[in-house]
Amino acid sequence: MDKSTNKQQDKHVGLYDSFVAKAHEVFVDGRDKTREAMQAAIEKAREQMTALGELSSEQGKQFQRYMQRDLEQIARYFRDVGEEAKDQLQPARMSAGALATMSVLLHKCSDALLQLSIKAAAITYRAGELTSAGTLTCTQCALTREFSTTSYIQRCPSCHNDTFMKSH
Ligand SMILES: [Zn+2]
Repeated sequence: MDKSTNKQQDKHVGLYDSFVAKAHEVFVDGRDKTREAMQAAIEKAREQMTALGELSSEQGKQFQRYMQRDLEQIARYFRDVGEEAKDQLQPARMSAGALATMSVLLHKCSDALLQLSIKAAAITYRAGELTSAGTLTCTQCALTREFSTTSYIQRCPSCHNDTFMKSH
């Protein structure tokens, strides 16, 4: 990977953190704390950052998808692992970034947001996408990699597979 690609990826990582922070801001300011209000806040973040030229329309759609995926993944994690998972994901214990912001969101209104986890299909993370902090496990060779901040996902260094599951 050359330097300009790295730089571009660093920029996207920062933009995704900003995107999640923006959606959080809109959601917290809003009256409703429902799942629909959360979706609307994500939509609003996309519109605002696209209108300001901070994101291309393609990136805006991608980030919207990433955030929905990440929120649902965290909501499922909370649901599956139980109360201690919430303590483990205390925002104060995490470095800044999209995961910390989304964890704050889920602490504030977990009941509404836990309903995000209604789809039965497994949530997968693919090479080339951004991920919020957490642990990705290769679906093919089970190699795990830990990410302490929002990061770009590369192919599995062991088997070159491009699909991963996430935990924390
Ligand atoms: Zn692998």
